[in-house]
Amino acid sequence: MFRDHIKSLQKKASPLEPSETERRELTEKVVRHGEDFLEELPELPAYNVEGDGHPLSEDDLTQPEESIDRVLNTYREHVNGPGLNPASGGHLGYIPGGGIFHSALGDFLAAVTNRYAGVYFASPGAVRMENKLLQWMADIVGYPSTSLGNITSGGSIANLIAVVTARQAHGLKGKDLERTVIYSTTHVHHCMDKAFRIAGVGECIRRHIPMDERFRMDPEALEGTIRDDRANGLYPWFLVGSAGTTDTGAIDPLRELAGVAEKEGLWYHVDGAYGAFFQLTESIGDRLKGMEASDSLVMDPHKGLFLPYGSGVVLIREGEKLRKAHHFQADYMQDAAEMNDVASPAELSPELTRHFRGLRLWLPLKLLGVEPFRAGLEEKLALAQYLAKELRNKEHFQLFDDPQLSVVTFRYLPESGDPDLANKDLNDAIRKDGRVFLSSTRIHGHYALRAAILAFRTHLHTIDTLLTVLDEKVAEIAPKESGVKE
Ligand SMILES: *Cc1c(COP(=O)(O)O)cnc(C)c1O
Repeated sequence: MFRDHIKSLQKKASPLEPSETERRELTEKVVRHGEDFLEELPELPAYNVEGDGHPLSEDDLTQPEESIDRVLNTYREHVNGPGLNPASGGHLGYIPGGGIFHSALGDFLAAVTNRYAGVYFASPGAVRMENKLLQWMADIVGYPSTSLGNITSGGSIANLIAVVTARQAHGLKGKDLERTVIYSTTHVHHCMDKAFRIAGVGECIRRHIPMDERFRMDPEALEGTIRDDRANGLYPWFLVGSAGTTDTGAIDPLRELAGVAEKEGLWYHVDGAYGAFFQLTESIGDRLKGMEASDSLVMDPHKGLFLPYGSGVVLIREGEKLRKAHHFQADYMQDAAEMNDVASPAELSPELTRHFRGLRLWLPLKLLGVEPFRAGLEEKLALAQYLAKELRNKEHFQLFDDPQLSVVTFRYLPESGDPDLANKDLNDAIRKDGRVFLSSTRIHGHYALRAAILAFRTHLHTIDTLLTVLDEKVAEIAPKESGVKE
């Protein structure tokens, strides 16, 4: 009787395990959908102002759709349509991500096999794979083999882990906070402020150190500020240098900052979420030199290695400090704890159970090697130089700075009227056009357009399209701007 009941439940739950025929059909349709998208992609806008996905809010999630075709249609129309198209090479806003195909297959395998990548005991191979990837990235930035790290969901969590590790390593207590000082420029990524707050050190004193005219921290001003703080009985604790700021791609003088941090006993953190992987290129020269001397470092494979969203990395130079800040103990984990020679992600981050993130990086590396990544990054640096050169020669345009990495900041200089309004209008017109997508920032108090070149599908023809779009849209808005004056 009871056995029959159990069996009938099993039958009801059986759609959770589709048959081989069903699996084949589902896979074919999903893969076909992905292929159709990639075929269409060159013609799709980088930004789509049509639609807002609202049917998804009214969706009855408890009722299944009749067919996968309808489900995929919903996805195409309401999700993969409105807004920004990060798969497009025309995405030149913020810091573009990637989405290389090989990684999608890695995610597929990770999900189908569902290996438990949190602890060594559960999946020694998965953990060794992730550790090896971390070691490879440590080698790229010049960290020693004693460093440890974690593959996170992104740069924000990676930065948070670094802050927590530093807090623990310096033994900060609640009562210390009001005399503890954090140093950065105003161009540090906003996720650092979030991280300080979440890590419970939001009450620390923040010092924003002045920048030079190219938006790099002034190390002498930093030293002076630290000296004054010490003289006033404060506790200088944490220094953030940027290996490529989001605003302008500026690289702080990382070597000089390392010197100051070492002399003053500060925890030195480098945020290389955007820029650190450029270390793979030859043309970067020694411009990122000094990041190897940091205590902690963040880099984002979903930016600099063109991976789909969901991959950041934190590295801690003295690996044991990362473990001390995140280790755990629980009776129900006693079998796992016995095998502790190999570092496990769960003892090095806030997460226990997590996506097997290593596979989406390992698979492309094993299939392609590192050369295509290196070349792609070189191409992006060269494209930024090309765009800067073209803009410099363009009438009515002002380049704010030679690109230090792959971000180009510039503005349109109208013959009359308010340049800030004109550039905002220009940016709106570009977004409505959709062939390319730019974002904006403020430079020396002016509204500035920025082209951030990092999507792996951004090529020479994309930059030429941008230049064409700029000409077309300036011609469109120019009469309006001069009209403003009269
Ligand atoms: C993108 C970025 C971050 C945040 O990383 P997410 O992966 O978006 O969480 C932090 N710092 C810099 C410099 C960035 O460019």
